[in-house]
Amino acid sequence: MNSDELTSQLEFFRDIGVESLDVSPAAEAVCDRPDAHRAPLQEPMEDLDSIRADIGDCQRCKLARTRTNIVFGSGNPTAELVFVGEAPGYDEDQQGLPFVGRAGQLLTKIIESISLKREDVYICNVLKCRPPDNRNPEPDEVASCNPFLKRQLATIRPKVVCCLGTFAAQTVLQTAAPISRLRGKFFDMDGMRVIATFHPAYLLRSPEKKREVWEDMKQIRAELFRLRS
Ligand code: URA
Repeated sequence: MNSDELTSQLEFFRDIGVESLDVSPAAEAVCDRPDAHRAPLQEPMEDLDSIRADIGDCQRCKLARTRTNIVFGSGNPTAELVFVGEAPGYDEDQQGLPFVGRAGQLLTKIIESISLKREDVYICNVLKCRPPDNRNPEPDEVASCNPFLKRQLATIRPKVVCCLGTFAAQTVLQTAAPISRLRGKFFDMDGMRVIATFHPAYLLRSPEKKREVWEDMKQIRAELFRLRS
């Protein structure tokens, strides 16, 4: 981390009200043995490359007509923590990578706030293609894309899935409940612990909500630690 990155990380900690940093072994243990949580005997039926190959030059929904790149996901294919966002924005559509714009930079700081790096986790979205003008995902688009997200999660088999914002939370948890009711608590789903928090793009507009995200991240850190011991 260079000095600019360190300054910006410390500014994030200040914004969320962190007054001291926990660098105890317990805080670091989460990323010590990144594969330790995986069941040794039950290998997944497919790998991420074959899911990406299946998506191909996808034409399953109308977003194919306006996208530049499919944004499949990136990160550690055996991550114990997966972040699921809503859909690619302009920068992600241009680069073919998730969360690389301003919201993505904030997500990186959020990840680093619990002593993890972006490369330790896996990051993807409900929709793999950008909706025009970043409008909300439509039901037919979610229906076309959600099977691929489910396969990604079944292949990675993370311990914890963190849904970023309303659409990710409602899609992953299969509920119409608002984010205000969903965030900050764990749900069990297909052997994974699922938690929702506010979307980083919302935090850019409402920075006072960063404290709640910090509370959620501390819960994630504790849950990862609990599940590994
Ligand atoms: N917002 C999202 O939900 N996903 C991205 O990849 C970028 C911004």
